[in-house]
Amino acid sequence: MRFPLGLTVAVSRYMMSQSLKRRDRYPTVLMLEPLYTCNLACIGCSTERHTGRLSDRLPLEACLQAADESQAPTLSICGGEPTLYPELPELIAGLIERGRYIYLCTNALVLDKKVFDLIPPHPQLIINVHLDGMAHTHDYVCDREGVFDRAVAMIGESKRRGYYTMTNTTVFQETELSEVEQLCDLLMSLDVDGMLISPGYQYASVERDIFMKRDDIHRKFGRVMELSRRYPITATPAFLEFCAGQRELKCAPYSTVTRTPLGWKGPCYLIGEKYFATWEEFWGGVDWDYWETRQDTRCQNCFMHSGFEASAVKAASSNLKDFVRLMMWNMSKPHRKTGVPPAPPAAPREEEAVEVA
Ligand code: SF4
Repeated sequence: MRFPLGLTVAVSRYMMSQSLKRRDRYPTVLMLEPLYTCNLACIGCSTERHTGRLSDRLPLEACLQAADESQAPTLSICGGEPTLYPELPELIAGLIERGRYIYLCTNALVLDKKVFDLIPPHPQLIINVHLDGMAHTHDYVCDREGVFDRAVAMIGESKRRGYYTMTNTTVFQETELSEVEQLCDLLMSLDVDGMLISPGYQYASVERDIFMKRDDIHRKFGRVMELSRRYPITATPAFLEFCAGQRELKCAPYSTVTRTPLGWKGPCYLIGEKYFATWEEFWGGVDWDYWETRQDTRCQNCFMHSGFEASAVKAASSNLKDFVRLMMWNMSKPHRKTGVPPAPPAAPREEEAVEVA
């Protein structure tokens, strides 16, 4: 299956319980940003996410409280670089105890010391490594040489140690799809469990113009649709059709809620128009009717999973034909061909000193 069976069951059960309560709007994913400290400053990342001090991080209790308040069955722990969060082992243990499925979104630079040595593999834990292209492109996006080699080495090690391991790739204006295909081949040879490919979102705080406009996204994601038949790409067929310009979807910004050191971020993961101190203020204070319609200028070129994947699943669940197609897609995971040797992991590089405090 393209997603772990337990995760599929947990999410389906949660969605059914929400539907029985006749709730139309509910979160399925909590983006938990426990810190705004990073050991990189990638050019496609909003500046707030890598300039914060470690001392300003969210306390462990606030992270667990956010999980309890949102009730979302899945969490992405991001940031900042979440492996730098000192209380990460306790946070992951607390979330596992609550039955949540966790994507640990990381640049992988210190995965060995901060995760492999401290947090054992678990069926509810997914290591999700950021990789935006082959070596030249990824190192350019990360603004540091050697990051690609290190990430590939850590992916190999993560698989060897038995972690469920996925990757997360953002497609920018200059990304060639032939390179994405090359990357998919490499990741397939490493036997990664899933690949998420998304169009980049143009944050106001990112100075370089590296982001695609609508037509570009449609063209490139038509090609990603083809790739999804050959590689374990985890975007659903309806979401890819939306990105390829073949169907319309409403945004569901409430499906992916974001807790940060500044508060609950509204209206969505991408736009921090206002930060709310409490869950109640956030949930009742965002004008969901407005943001669902994408009439805001900042929504025009947005084709992000955080806004539309839940709508894609909902649309696919609303008629039998699409629902069967969704189930078939989940069960039709392409695997590494037997006999193809795994790519040799690149030699680990000496990490640069990381100033985190
Ligand atoms: S379209 Fe994108 S930017 Fe606009 S509310 Fe939805 S997720 Fe946020």
